[in-house]
Amino acid sequence: MEFFNLKSNLKIVAGPCSAESSDQVLRTAESLHSINPDIVFRAGIWKPRSRPGAFKGVGTEGLQWLMEVQNRIGLTVATEVAEPEHVESVVNAGIKIVWIGARTASNPFSIQKLADALSGSGLSVMIKNPQYPDVDLWTGNIERILNCGISDVAAIHRGFYPFEKSALRNTPRWEVPIELKRRMPELLMICDPSHIAGKRQYIKDIAQRALDLNFDGLMIETHYKPSIALSDKNQQLNIEDFSKLISELKWRDYVAADEAFKQQLDDIREKIDVIDFQLLELLAHRMRYVKEIGLHKKQHNVSVLQLKRWGRILESRLEQARQDGLSEHFVKQLLELIHKESIRNQTDIFKGRESIGDNKIENE
Ligand code: PEP
Ligand code: MN
Repeated sequence: MEFFNLKSNLKIVAGPCSAESSDQVLRTAESLHSINPDIVFRAGIWKPRSRPGAFKGVGTEGLQWLMEVQNRIGLTVATEVAEPEHVESVVNAGIKIVWIGARTASNPFSIQKLADALSGSGLSVMIKNPQYPDVDLWTGNIERILNCGISDVAAIHRGFYPFEKSALRNTPRWEVPIELKRRMPELLMICDPSHIAGKRQYIKDIAQRALDLNFDGLMIETHYKPSIALSDKNQQLNIEDFSKLISELKWRDYVAADEAFKQQLDDIREKIDVIDFQLLELLAHRMRYVKEIGLHKKQHNVSVLQLKRWGRILESRLEQARQDGLSEHFVKQLLELIHKESIRNQTDIFKGRESIGDNKIENE
């Protein structure tokens, strides 16, 4: 099997959520090819749906349509696999790239079975994040695929199930893919703004955000006529909107070639480094006072939580944040985190297991 090499070939994956008919697949693929022949064409033929009765994909029948896209139209094709039999079918058909979906990615048993089936297949594999933001599980899934001898691997960030009401279908939690990239710097990272957005109108901002964060590629659901799509119709772009999006997005360089700019960046970063260490010192200083107060509270049998004081802290600091042009949301979260840690420290003192400097408080 020919080695595709995601790293050098892949920037944009586009195509419908599902392969629905030969006509839909070929029309969409032809238009995409005319926009850019390097696009990787995506289409699901086995669809993991939340509820039974929803369109579950056309199954193996769709493989011949996908192969026509690859052989006649000339776009490399990718499809989703969730079972070892899917892997066998795509290998036999001649497909080069597969992805593992978010629902499958939540189950290590399924991933291990897929990894075993993928072993020796020569396929390139893209692995979506699990539906919940567990970076260890996402890392583990990638390791399972790498361990089975597949080396051409990419991660796809498609957002996380939103536990709070949100305009977006899935919460991006950008810190999760950033942490994955920190752990695996060589890993190719693709963003799927379609499944994060859930609605067409949010896709551009999310895609641009991903490029600003130095993602390596985008997967964007595209359909020649989204209004008749059998799955994910609200998030699929028509060809015209897709083409406009691609021309408007700004791809960023990770490192600038300009030496003066690099120097400027280094100078400012040095200042930020100094401030970060000052912030940590200040936090440690603050925490020493928190512990001192904890001791006094304990001696006078006064509760750890003092709601009035906490209310005054929030009010005055948020007023200051407004004056300083800082985001209130950010400062509130920061204060809540500090307060939580203060309470944890004082509670430990109440339980008699905290040390302040050298004075160990003994258990009573
Ligand atoms: C898909 O790509 O169409 C899909 C089912 O995505 P996810 O696994 O991210 O929900
Ligand atoms: Mn979809």
